[in-house]
Amino acid sequence: MKRIAIIGGGISGLSAAYVLEKKRRDGGELDYVLYESSPRLGGVLVTDRVDGCLIEAGPDSFLTEKPWASDLCQQLGLADQLIGSNDRDRKTYILVRGRLIEMPDGLMFMVPTKLLPIVLSPLFSLKTKLRMAREWFHPPHEANGDETVASMVERHYGSEMVERLADPLLSGIYGGEASQLSVRAVLARFADMEAKHGSLGRAVLAARRNAPKPEGSPRPLFTSLKGGMQHMVDALVASLDADALTTGATVQATTLEGEGWVVSAGLRSDHFDAVILALPTQAAASLLRMCSHELATELAGVHYSSSVTVAIGYDRNVRQSLPPGFGFLVPRSEGKRLLAATFVHNKFPHRAPDDRAVVRCFLGGARDEQILALSEDEILRIVREELKLIIHLTAEPLFTRVFKWKGAMAQYGVGHLERLQRIEALRKKLPGLTLAGNGYNGIGVPDCVRSGIEAAEETLRTLGMAAPQPLSATPE
Ligand SMILES: Cc1cc2nc3c(=O)[nH]c(=O)nc-3n(C[C@H](O)[C@H](O)[C@H](O)COP(=O)(O)OP(=O)(O)OC[C@H]3O[C@@H](n4cnc5c(N)ncnc54)[C@H](O)[C@@H]3O)c2cc1C
Repeated sequence: MKRIAIIGGGISGLSAAYVLEKKRRDGGELDYVLYESSPRLGGVLVTDRVDGCLIEAGPDSFLTEKPWASDLCQQLGLADQLIGSNDRDRKTYILVRGRLIEMPDGLMFMVPTKLLPIVLSPLFSLKTKLRMAREWFHPPHEANGDETVASMVERHYGSEMVERLADPLLSGIYGGEASQLSVRAVLARFADMEAKHGSLGRAVLAARRNAPKPEGSPRPLFTSLKGGMQHMVDALVASLDADALTTGATVQATTLEGEGWVVSAGLRSDHFDAVILALPTQAAASLLRMCSHELATELAGVHYSSSVTVAIGYDRNVRQSLPPGFGFLVPRSEGKRLLAATFVHNKFPHRAPDDRAVVRCFLGGARDEQILALSEDEILRIVREELKLIIHLTAEPLFTRVFKWKGAMAQYGVGHLERLQRIEALRKKLPGLTLAGNGYNGIGVPDCVRSGIEAAEETLRTLGMAAPQPLSATPE
């Protein structure tokens, strides 16, 4: 009987456990224990319900084009619970000099693909529009190593594009800054396009021309679950062996002893043949320091930023007065602490009754770690003050919720891919160890699901067992 420890009960660890449970039920000679330090499973996936509204404390959805989370939901029997974002009403605004300006149609991330909407948009100055036109004629450019997203975007479209679009978009996704994040780690597709085509605009259009035509109506940009992201966690937990799940169990050390591993949590130490660390890399580093100082140092080198989400509920009058669309992004140059806000009742309409509006705000990120030290009341005061300035929202909320996520968002800095190669080489020197989580090959929920599945499958292989079918993560 092989014994496997999974440390971390977020979506990465639960996905790994799902694979092991499936193997066990298929007759695999194994047992597993999942250790989670907090009293609940799911990590940053938390759904709350207030006043008939569904509130997401962490992620509210995932990108449809990355299949791993939807695939897992389908295997969990949740196919009929999957919902798409209300893309008919998709519109995002950028705050520019205190005014919300709609992002023009035809932008793929920050690459313009349609001429007219961009030319007519007040989002960019004439200078930037001329840069966009010139960009069309850029020759192929093989970058000399990695660089920041800001440097690549600036080379193509100038600094205004970095400030108004690239930076706010990245702070929405990573809680990070374009001037820090690695283009090869977070925008690999664009780095490849630049090498092949030069112009990103031409490259995106060529990719679209060559892509197979989708059948039926276009897929929504975001996918979620009717009952919120928590539903996925609940279904995963229900599919596992309850005796294998230990909450309130903080692992203090994982050490290699002879052929196996010793995992110490509280006063208990237990022996395992393999260990899956499904943790933020910083936490993985502290558990591995005794086994490999070098690996721990590399893991600790992946930085994390913190995030605060604030959900505020309002009545029908506010709902009618808010702008249409999904919400807005706030560039740093606007001098606000708000990074972005989502109009939840528009993005996922059934998450609020017709007579309610829910505005979900994001703060923190790499440039405002200090926000975590503020009380909930202070954070709410800032949010309400800034909503008043940006969207003239002065109404009394019906309810408020504040969620703080310390060190939850991995920042893939320049050289991240090389760091991953070093991590991989060092990890392989520790037999039976696999790593999963958002610090490696993607920060989104689907990437974390994939990382958990792949870690569990590799663990089974190293223990001489085949992975259960049909779990294998779909190739990208
Ligand atoms: C506010 C916010 C919004 C987001 N929005 C989106 C979104 O809309 N779409 C999207 O795709 N992604 C989004 N993400 C990113 C995505 O949700 C996360 O990257 C992903 O859920 C991380 O999952 P994980 O299991 O790797 O880590 P976590 O959820 O952090 O889980 C790790 C677990 O390990 C436990 N742990 C830590 N140390 C120990 C220890 N020593 N012993 C035992 N247990 C330990 C922790 O308690 C935690 O439960 C968002 C993230 C945040 C914070």
